Amino acid sequence: MKEMENGQIHLELAEVKPLVVDSLKRAGCNGENADALSECIFQAERHGAHSHGLFRMPGYLASLRSGKVNGNAGPRLSNSKPAVLSVDGDGGYAPLAHQRLAKPLAELAKQQGIAMAALTNTFHFAALWQEVEMLANEGVVALACTAFKPALPPAGGTKPLYGTNPVAFAWPREGAEPCVFDQASAVMARGEVMIAAREGHQLPAGAGIDAQGNPTTDPNEVLKGALLPFGGYKGASIAMMVELLAASLIGEQLSFEAAEQDNNDGGPPRGGEFILAIDPANGLASAEGLFGKILDQEGARLPSDGRRAKREKIVREGIQIPADLYEKIVA
Ligand code: NDP
Repeated sequence: MKEMENGQIHLELAEVKPLVVDSLKRAGCNGENADALSECIFQAERHGAHSHGLFRMPGYLASLRSGKVNGNAGPRLSNSKPAVLSVDGDGGYAPLAHQRLAKPLAELAKQQGIAMAALTNTFHFAALWQEVEMLANEGVVALACTAFKPALPPAGGTKPLYGTNPVAFAWPREGAEPCVFDQASAVMARGEVMIAAREGHQLPAGAGIDAQGNPTTDPNEVLKGALLPFGGYKGASIAMMVELLAASLIGEQLSFEAAEQDNNDGGPPRGGEFILAIDPANGLASAEGLFGKILDQEGARLPSDGRRAKREKIVREGIQIPADLYEKIVA
């Protein structure tokens, strides 16, 4: 740990997990939950996904302290139907449930060709590429989505109804890391808007509207109003699909229901996650042909290569976080 002149704290990557584990345990997490969540935060920081790394710690800690989230959760798996793995998150943060479900879900998908995990009674505050990548590393194609609290209006509307509702997809590759994309249904993630508000940056045009429904690039006004779905009505339909899969289908709360129940302590609301795993069968070689054609084009890259390029630099140089965030985590 080193204090910088710019008001930032420099951390080596090796310092991230001990810092997080200690803080989570003091807020009431047992070892298993603290380890799983700290690995998730460490991976976010290691890959430059700062809006889902240490930045989220005050929220994680607040929900442990308020008693909303169970720091001693023991996620339970059961086969409710042959192709469905039901996972009760036991009111805890999602990363431990992801660790427990990855191998059994991949195994089920390989046996049957396809399998779904219905993760309920959980609190998801992280980036979804981690769980789909975990599954691709087990050799299956994976797709996951989760809802949150209302942030996006339906197409044509001005009042938040859908969460920012991310969808993540991973394709396994032989001899290479999986090809992964992970994107919010919003023009940008709410965490990025919060960081822009904190740092005093304007948002790109088209990112959101104020509480009266007028377009604005001021992140504080967007936080009071609504973010917009990417691609207009097309993104709005994807956000709606996420509500239906990650809430209605698996028996969890829709974003607007989650907001009604939430205690607004700064952490995530209770919700669910839909995770699909598919055996790629003989599709891997064909996919390599596509990836090769993409990379043949000057200026094109695969999704996830940007994140992995950041990783190389971060592993060498470590990270910087605002001093006040560091103080909150330590205190
Ligand atoms: P981005 O718009 O930053 O990136 C979306 C995807 O596009 C990434 O997979 C990215 O890969 C890829 N990509 C970006 N540029 C290119 C390019 N030039 N060529 C090919 N692929 C590209 O992400 P979002 O802002 O939409 O989402 C941010 C995160 O927020 C996600 O991880 C999501 O899971 C998380 N989130 C979590 C929520 C929750 O409730 N838990 C709610 C909402 C969002 P790469 O990383 O390599 O650049």
